[in-house]
Amino acid sequence: MPHVNHPSYEKLFEIPPGYLNIMGYVDASEVNGPGCRAVIWVQGCLRECPGCFNPDSWSFEMNELVAVDVLVDRILSNHQNEGVTFSGGEPFWQAPALAQLAHRVRVAGLNVMSFSGFTLEQLKGEYAPAGAQSLLNELDVLIDGPYVESLAIHSPTSLVSSCNQRVHVFNPDLRDRLTWASDQIEIHVLKDGSRIVTGYRGQMNLFENDL
Ligand code: SF4
Repeated sequence: MPHVNHPSYEKLFEIPPGYLNIMGYVDASEVNGPGCRAVIWVQGCLRECPGCFNPDSWSFEMNELVAVDVLVDRILSNHQNEGVTFSGGEPFWQAPALAQLAHRVRVAGLNVMSFSGFTLEQLKGEYAPAGAQSLLNELDVLIDGPYVESLAIHSPTSLVSSCNQRVHVFNPDLRDRLTWASDQIEIHVLKDGSRIVTGYRGQMNLFENDL
């Protein structure tokens, strides 16, 4: 269990119910889980893993507050999205709102995957973040465990970034769809001209017209 005395951690409790504090969002990613999917990077993680691919996601300060309703509409309005992936940051610190979102997109026929720095055992244990079991109940796939630099895998076929991480497939329909690779990279060009580079170990980098 990570320490919870990070200076910005208390900001987590300022997020209104039904909202998420996110770092970023893309539609139609093909390198963050099975098939073509929306990706939500949440803001806030306590682990500070050496070699973390998203250190800008560590702070719990408000970055972008978005209502679950708005995100659900956005995900479902892009018919390329056949699923949603939660990355971060640590998705399970915002488990109640992500569970709401996951339930609604699953009712609409999409599948849901999440990364977590917690292990599955920790998420089921007594020190799990609030709402962890509710979110687990809505997941089709969980990639668990923190990134450990000394155990890093750089392979065009690996589903995970370090060999301590595990792929838990809760939905048997997805067992033959585990085709992404943690070393793949994808570039999304947004309407305002900015670009998001994602896929390399779950990374999200935002560039404003500088590629
Ligand atoms: S690698 Fe993942 S768990 Fe570790 S600090 Fe970065 S976002 Fe958090």
